[in-house]
Amino acid sequence: MNRKLAENFKKVQGRIEAACARAGREPSEITLVAVTKTVGIDVVKHLVDSGVKHLGESRVQELTQRAAMAHEYLSRRQRDPAAGALPRPTWHMIGHLQRNKVKALLPWVNVIHSVDSLRLAEEIDARAAKLGRVAEVLMEINAGLEPQKYGVPVGAASHLAEQIESLPHLHLTGVMAMAPFDEIVDRVHACFSRVYEIYEEMRHDVIRRDDFRQLSMGMTSDFETAIECGSTMVRIGTALFDGVIL
Ligand SMILES: *Cc1c(COP(=O)(O)O)cnc(C)c1O
Repeated sequence: MNRKLAENFKKVQGRIEAACARAGREPSEITLVAVTKTVGIDVVKHLVDSGVKHLGESRVQELTQRAAMAHEYLSRRQRDPAAGALPRPTWHMIGHLQRNKVKALLPWVNVIHSVDSLRLAEEIDARAAKLGRVAEVLMEINAGLEPQKYGVPVGAASHLAEQIESLPHLHLTGVMAMAPFDEIVDRVHACFSRVYEIYEEMRHDVIRRDDFRQLSMGMTSDFETAIECGSTMVRIGTALFDGVIL
């Protein structure tokens, strides 16, 4: 891996480990999703080539193009008997998703983090049925103290989870949330703690499946706080890619 990039990954991994130590958790509980929305396709290819397992994009067009490129590349590579095995990346759609883009997205995405309405859930269910598959999704909760644009309101979360659970081609495996942009750590902490409570309530009272176990919280500015509040998946861009030139 490129030196600066390897250094950044190591630093972030170190910060994840330190946050886990403070919270009495194991680093193996945390999945790092590398958010590539600000870097070029050459960096994405380099990540695939370095065996990075989880990649996140916030727009449908970028995700589909990049996942298609990675697929092409890995398929070609597989035919070369001299090339060692590389994992196929898991693609995470982390941004807001419009219903009219679901059809294009679905063949390329592995996990959709941003399901926040029944109408969107139903569209994904219908498209997944046509492809003969089950789509893994997380429900995005809006737990900010100030109104945010996306995410289901806290009070409606359990009901939406039940509705998603009844759709046969959706597999709900957890919850996603963003904290308000706030320099005050206590406010970010309060938001993430609230989401953790909702997630736990859902796990015990609504979904009750062992594979409902992902809590996607934390970005560059707040991932350590998110880990202290129970996050299992951090979505990080800036801290990994700042200053990286290939
Ligand atoms: C861009 C983005 C991230 C990563 O943000 P950084 O601050 O660059 O780490 C995480 N989650 C979502 C939903 C994003 O859009």
